[in-house]
Amino acid sequence: MTKLTVLLDIDNTILATDSLRKHIESRLEANYGAKALEHFYKIQEQELTKRGFYDWKQIAMKFAKSQGSSDYATVLAVFLEAPFNDYWRPGAKDLIEFLKISSYLVIFSDGDEVFQKTKAEKLGLFEASGEVIISKSKVGLLAGIRDKSSGTVVIIDDKPGVILKAKEVIPDGITIWVKYGRYAKEEKSLGASLETENLLEVKDYIQKLQ
Ligand SMILES: [Mg+2]
Repeated sequence: MTKLTVLLDIDNTILATDSLRKHIESRLEANYGAKALEHFYKIQEQELTKRGFYDWKQIAMKFAKSQGSSDYATVLAVFLEAPFNDYWRPGAKDLIEFLKISSYLVIFSDGDEVFQKTKAEKLGLFEASGEVIISKSKVGLLAGIRDKSSGTVVIIDDKPGVILKAKEVIPDGITIWVKYGRYAKEEKSLGASLETENLLEVKDYIQKLQ
């Protein structure tokens, strides 16, 4: 039987990214003060509007400048040296161990290349997967992945936009909406194959597909 191809998201899917962000913000506040944190939020928002994703090097540079400093490397280090491994979601490691053996596992993540790559490296995701794809907009890559895959494609993500696009572009695929983080309460249902917060349930579901 052809192996499943599993596209697994990182942020707010296997990693508690919102909590990690809070940690990063508390570090910035401790180092630069509460007022600086307000600047940080503003810069972050401007960058998101401008580029559609967080470019952490640009954010670090602008933030350092707002603090009258040219030392952006210290700011960048707060992002890149965050304790990523403290923020695994429950069941995430079990799920990865299972997928590593039973499927062709693709880590499929949107965002800033340097930051996401560092994150994936520190979490050991390069060793755990067949491929790591980091893109600025992964919905645009879905059709290409479907064409390349010989077996069924499974998409696991917390972002409704990704799940809805996957349903459209890969109609014979399996969509798993991880109802966790900021999008969990926005929609009641997306009509995905499985909708759950629980990653062990995700593992059981995929196990039954095989
Ligand atoms: Mg995500």
